[in-house]
Amino acid sequence: DAERELARDTAPGATADGHRIDLLANIGTAADADRAAATPVAGSGLFRTEVLFLGRQTAPTLAEQTEVYGSVLRAFGDRKVVVRTLDAGADKPLAFATQADEENPALGVRGYRLVRTLPDLLGTQLAALGAVAAGLDEADRDHLWVMAPMVATPAEARDFATRARAAGITRVGVMVEVPAAALRAREILAEVDFVSLGTNDLAQYTMATDRLRGELADLLDPWQPAVLDLVAATARAGVDLGKPVGVCGESAADPLMALVLTGLGITSLSMSPAAVPAARYAVRRHTLAQCRAIADAALAAGSAPEARAAALALTASEV
Ligand code: PEP
Ligand code: MG
Repeated sequence: DAERELARDTAPGATADGHRIDLLANIGTAADADRAAATPVAGSGLFRTEVLFLGRQTAPTLAEQTEVYGSVLRAFGDRKVVVRTLDAGADKPLAFATQADEENPALGVRGYRLVRTLPDLLGTQLAALGAVAAGLDEADRDHLWVMAPMVATPAEARDFATRARAAGITRVGVMVEVPAAALRAREILAEVDFVSLGTNDLAQYTMATDRLRGELADLLDPWQPAVLDLVAATARAGVDLGKPVGVCGESAADPLMALVLTGLGITSLSMSPAAVPAARYAVRRHTLAQCRAIADAALAAGSAPEARAAALALTASEV
């Protein structure tokens, strides 16, 4: 019964009392974009462009990148697409961009930091995105959002924003997935138009726990109070500055976490398209005030299991 209601529901993400929260798709390819765009999502909150670079000996050309980014934008039409610039390094090694001699690749030259060693990679990517933007009419240009991964400081955010705006991108953001960025979310948001929390890496770096070590999953849990505190601080900065703060890590796909995030003031949740209906259903069954109470209960808990239990205790019977 609930399942049928869930499948029929194609309305935009919103609480029972109409507070909007955009439900978006995480994608990695133009084919993903076509599939996701056929579902009732409000756009893509994370286009992982590194997929286009994986398994190759050289970077894709400007023309090739322009073609792929253009087709992803076209697939979503008048819906927004948040393109993430190359996130190579650590768990996403690239033949032409990985430093073989790094002892701690997760702490090394990865994500936006590659601008220090291989600035042309980002330059070409921004030129391709700029070319796509230039080909869109003015209203559609606003649907192209571009963000950089692994930003740690406001200075990096400013530097990225300067480069992206110079390329003709109008909506510029960065990911918050390093604790330093979450702690300075206000200063970072002052430099950009939006941020998106990457809770996979934020949990990894907050808990000093390799995200690929299955036996440490309890530490890596996004319900860990320290991780929730950093998410809450980032959300608060967004609310105070009136700028969007999304979540695009796996935690957004947990319907119970979706309620917490909504209550914290997160403005969009991006996840695998298959997870969207359950998130939509959970959010629709609670008011914003209920989501806030659920978030408060989770933040007050002393451990990850207690946070989850405290949130669950305040939900409607079906989530
Ligand atoms: C994250 O870190 O949460 C994220 C969304 O990025 P990725 O999983 O691609 O590192
Ligand atoms: Mg990440």
